[in-house]
Amino acid sequence: MEMSRLGDAMGPAQVLHVCDSAAGLRGVVVVDNVAAGPSIGGVRMAPDVTTAEVARLARAMTLKNAAAGLAHGGGKGGIVADPRMPAAEKRRLIRSFARLISGLTGYIPGPDMGTDEEAMAHVQDEIGRAVGLPRVLGGIPLDEIGATGWGLAAAARVAAPEAGLDLEGARVAVQGFGAVGIHAARFLREQGARLVAASDSGGAVHNPDGLDLAALIAHKTGDGRPSVGSFAGGAAIDSDALVGVECDIWIPAARPDVLTAGNAPALKARLVLQGANIPATEEAERILHERGVLNVPDFIANAGGVICAAVEYHGGSESQAMQTIADKIERNVREVIDRSRAGSISLRAAALDLARLRVEEAMRYRMR
Ligand code: NAD
Repeated sequence: MEMSRLGDAMGPAQVLHVCDSAAGLRGVVVVDNVAAGPSIGGVRMAPDVTTAEVARLARAMTLKNAAAGLAHGGGKGGIVADPRMPAAEKRRLIRSFARLISGLTGYIPGPDMGTDEEAMAHVQDEIGRAVGLPRVLGGIPLDEIGATGWGLAAAARVAAPEAGLDLEGARVAVQGFGAVGIHAARFLREQGARLVAASDSGGAVHNPDGLDLAALIAHKTGDGRPSVGSFAGGAAIDSDALVGVECDIWIPAARPDVLTAGNAPALKARLVLQGANIPATEEAERILHERGVLNVPDFIANAGGVICAAVEYHGGSESQAMQTIADKIERNVREVIDRSRAGSISLRAAALDLARLRVEEAMRYRMR
């Protein structure tokens, strides 16, 4: 369902614009839906962030949190600013934002593009609620432990056999060798798969016999953070060529809209695990579906991060978070594949049905 300018039956429940001229703050929070519980969603800091973008991301969080069966609705925050500003200025801005949204108890802020665990520590100090906190404040550092990559590996356990693949020996290509991509490759390696190609914003590398993962991670995280394109253990390839690399599992873990109608026909993989948010255009997803490529949608496959944040919020431990991520994502991927087969619909259509049904069911329990 397209949202009109004022939303639809699901939300938004509240939209709050905040402004503090003295601190140079302009921001917004969209609480999309709170039927399942207070909304969780990140605070995005970017010079060009808009209310419309925040509303779209808030809806995406409603669906992601509902699909994951969390006791949380979806929301999102936005601050119009350049995140590379001096630390003291950023701290002032974040604290001002937190104070102005303190009454919005249906929104629990988390980190997103341009904000991090330190920013969330300041939010927590101001208003007593935030997720994605530093470890000393009870946080579970989700990028350090690889929560989202772990969830992608859980998705692979269920989806690979459905795509006719054995994870033992399966060839993996990762676009975007960052927090999500590195950990996905690492956890899939533990299940017998091997990374044959990877890219980042600086280049791409390919080795059909398998890249030495530990050496590649050491290279990528070493001094000056060089690009994977300069890794000696494989051949440098053009970044655009990554889509057409011979492999079984393709993992987008970088930017939106990287799979398009133009390149989707060239994809060799039988399974796509969407680590990034909206990495494929609608047209690309239609092409993959028609070609019989199993394409596990973003808000099902990459929910590990928000599941981890919810476990943190409820006082759970790191090991509980990892177990919960595996349980929920395995179950969801199973259900989405079954629904898609039963209705002859794409995995995304099946996932949207599943999420909407869960939100609507939660809404029926709410009397106020
Ligand atoms: P990150 O910044 O750690 O890594 C992103 C990687 O992508 C970097 O290596 C960067 O060089 C690379 N990259 C950027 N542009 C590229 C391009 N054009 N081609 C190839 N590589 C490119 O970010 P991350 O936390 O790993 O997040 C990656 C994606 O996953 C984002 O879309 C994010 O919204 C999404 N996501 C992240 C999480 C999480 O837990 N971190 C959870 C859900 C979704």
